[in-house]
Amino acid sequence: SMFSALTDKLEDAFRKLRGLGKISESNVSDAMREIRLALLEADVDFKVTKDLVEAVKTRALGEEVLKTVTPGQQIVKIFHDELEKILGGGASELDLGPPQRILMVGLNGAGKTTTSAKLANWLKKQGKRPLLIALDLYRPAAVTQLQVLGQQLGVPVCVPAAGETDVVRATRAALAWLDQQGSGVAIFDTAGRQEVDDALLSELKKVRDLVQPNETLLVADAATGQQAVAVASKFHETVTITGLIMTKLDGDARGGALLSMRQVTGCPVKFIGVGEKVDQLEVFHPDRMAQRILGMGDVVSLVEKAAQEIDEKDAMKMMRRLEENKFDFNDFLGQLRFMKKLGPLEGLLGMIPGMNKLKGMPGVDDKRMKHVEAIILSMTPKERSKPDIINGSRRKRIAKGCGRPVVEINQLLKQFEMMRGLMKNKSAMAQMASGLFG
Ligand code: GDP
Repeated sequence: SMFSALTDKLEDAFRKLRGLGKISESNVSDAMREIRLALLEADVDFKVTKDLVEAVKTRALGEEVLKTVTPGQQIVKIFHDELEKILGGGASELDLGPPQRILMVGLNGAGKTTTSAKLANWLKKQGKRPLLIALDLYRPAAVTQLQVLGQQLGVPVCVPAAGETDVVRATRAALAWLDQQGSGVAIFDTAGRQEVDDALLSELKKVRDLVQPNETLLVADAATGQQAVAVASKFHETVTITGLIMTKLDGDARGGALLSMRQVTGCPVKFIGVGEKVDQLEVFHPDRMAQRILGMGDVVSLVEKAAQEIDEKDAMKMMRRLEENKFDFNDFLGQLRFMKKLGPLEGLLGMIPGMNKLKGMPGVDDKRMKHVEAIILSMTPKERSKPDIINGSRRKRIAKGCGRPVVEINQLLKQFEMMRGLMKNKSAMAQMASGLFG
């Protein structure tokens, strides 16, 4: 899909970071260099790339992120947030207030006519009454195309008089037609050119001044890469566009243009075209797109969730206890309770790469977690801090206290021993901790 190559490379770079227990400044620099190259290869604007990478690096090094228990994850989250910022924060809604007029502009072949029909279809689904107006006097085929699409959608279409060559006269006639139609959202499909030139822009200015649209939307072809961004800038300078629609993001465009658009032009992307069919138009959501590009939406939401619950000091203490091999059932109980706060375990484990290795560990399913908690609560404080003293008669007593069979107590003790053994291995420990602490 549109960002698969970029997503693969970002995942690579972040996987390396997240695999490290401790992250140094030079690890961050290496990762950011990789990410910078990946963005440039995806055709993202040079300055946009530079600013993004620098913002992430500054925050990663500045906010004491490296001292947290899960620096890799935190950096993924920072990158996600910065990416979302570039893409424009929340979704940018269409202004549909009076006079309810949308002017569609763009170069020939960008997808203007198709997108006008897509927009009409979208508005209809929103319960609005769209009206289509063909104003391309140079291409009779474009007028016919709009007529056909309008018919398919059951949307009225206004066409210019036969042989009309004066765009001002054609626009006036269209406005008169609109008056007859009653209220509705009018979509004006204007003429394009092969490239941006003065004739095109001055004609568009005349049309715009007559129509007084709420929205002037530029339709830009993602497949043209950075060219699309340059075109958008030129249109914006002269006819002031209020929003962008990027088309053909379903093709093998590298997608970088979409990332640069907002930042370079200062205009929000409002929709994206993802196919030739009339329903293949999507409202553009920067937050969802950032997650899609990153390919790590799950990590991001996990970090967000954990950030609300996690106490870094506690987590650090726990890490030290693990390292010093002092981890006992009290610590374990604390972890179980922390995990419980984060929500259903199945979902949680699915979010963390590598965590499926922990399946079968004590407490790693919700029902079993409750049983494990009951078993630990049946232990005396001394038994919890020194599990080695739990002999046969103590096991029987614990079993009675919590109402679980002795075999389950034996199983838990055995697994706990295994876990402590595993934790002597540093990398396994880091992974375990990253799992347990988000
Ligand atoms: P216009 O000259 O700007 O009016 O462009 P058209 O609407 O005629 O579209 C040009 C070509 O691009 C047509 O073949 C459309 O089917 C195609 N097209 C438009 N939008 C998309 C899109 O989002 N994805 C794909 N794959 N093709 C599109």
